[in-house]
Amino acid sequence: MAYQLTAEQLQWQSVARDFAERKLTPAKHWLEGEEFWKNAEMLAEHGFLGVTLPEEYGGMNLDLFSAMLIIEELCKVCPTSGRLVYHTGPGITNFINHLGTPEQKKKYLPQITAGKYYVALGMSEPDAGSAATDLATTAVEEGNFYKLNGSKIFVSEGHFAHAFVVYARFGNTGSPSDIGAILVERGTPGFSVGVAEENMSGEFQTALYFDDALVPKENVLVTRNAFKALMGVYNGVRLGYAAQTLGITQAAFDRTCQYVKERKQFGKQICEFQGVQWMIADMYLQLESARALLYKAAAEVVDNKTDKTSVSVAKVYVAEAAKKITDDCLQLHGGYGFSKEYPLEWYYRCVRAASIAGGTIQVHKTMLASSVLGRKFDQRK
Ligand SMILES: Cc1cc2nc3c(=O)[nH]c(=O)nc-3n(C[C@H](O)[C@H](O)[C@H](O)COP(=O)(O)OP(=O)(O)OC[C@H]3O[C@@H](n4cnc5c(N)ncnc54)[C@H](O)[C@@H]3O)c2cc1C
Repeated sequence: MAYQLTAEQLQWQSVARDFAERKLTPAKHWLEGEEFWKNAEMLAEHGFLGVTLPEEYGGMNLDLFSAMLIIEELCKVCPTSGRLVYHTGPGITNFINHLGTPEQKKKYLPQITAGKYYVALGMSEPDAGSAATDLATTAVEEGNFYKLNGSKIFVSEGHFAHAFVVYARFGNTGSPSDIGAILVERGTPGFSVGVAEENMSGEFQTALYFDDALVPKENVLVTRNAFKALMGVYNGVRLGYAAQTLGITQAAFDRTCQYVKERKQFGKQICEFQGVQWMIADMYLQLESARALLYKAAAEVVDNKTDKTSVSVAKVYVAEAAKKITDDCLQLHGGYGFSKEYPLEWYYRCVRAASIAGGTIQVHKTMLASSVLGRKFDQRK
């Protein structure tokens, strides 16, 4: 791999930057407010929804790396727009694109690229978060259906989604090989969506309940012996999320560089204080390192070599750097940083989730240690 972006990737980066700067209005609330929907309409019109999906379904057939560059650029101006592009492309939609049947793709993907349909993920459960393979939701064959029982938690945008990719146990051996995934549409008998709860970043999450929910067999994505395939797709989802985090962090940093050159104390610009300069330098170092690690992981996916260790490295580093950088950016804005008049506190709240969602920092570090040391560490014994 050449240590630079290709001409095509640079072009996508520039197209997205230009679009974001000219067209997007920062929308603070995901799925709420006039700005969000205006942006969503423009994103659909300009082909930004479903960027990684095949052209026959209305997508742009881009590789994950190019999609990440677009998401990063959009998030610098409007994180909620970047997030929508993420969700409809390398995010949850990716499960259907990679694992779905031709019929499922034909049914769902064109609606998703048109901005008319939204799919969320039901993986976590009240007693199975980091220990994802402990999930207890069951899918039992019954004629032309699977009967689902159990519940899910923390489902982002669950209040709005039209359908859900639901992880469930299709077998009863008790091992991870029982775990598969099925698409459950809103309105399915026996299935209900809980109350929307607002989280720290202003995003809404819900629980899902399955009480003898009857889901048609044709909605199955994968049944048994597919946990590895599911997590393979999920690694791409993780990288897209990291790109979103990086874009938000870059926006916080850019604003801060501007601010320290404008704000005066003790009769001079605060950027003239060495203490401030070193904070800026440290942030820049972390930002550049985060980007390099993320792009490396993305380049490996382009070459069809998803390396879960590189994904964990990128995910952990981006999340930790984002937390530290946005905190320091807020700090350098003083009282204004803490106020809601400026977006710094929002940037901070947005990136905080990256240390938890998609696997916590601790869990990814455990996987990294296992890879570096060449040993598996059983978390149960
Ligand atoms: C913003 C956001 C969006 C999310 N969206 C979704 C979604 O759309 N769909 C979905 O299914 N889920 C979603 N989640 C849930 C997310 O996947 C889980 O929160 C995450 O996997 C952690 O699980 P938990 O919350 O149960 O924490 P726990 O697993 O209970 O962990 C609690 C603490 O213990 C630590 N810990 C646990 N096990 C170990 C270990 N072996 N070694 C060291 N430390 C350990 C963790 O690192 C953590 O600090 C979302 C979460 C967030 C924050």
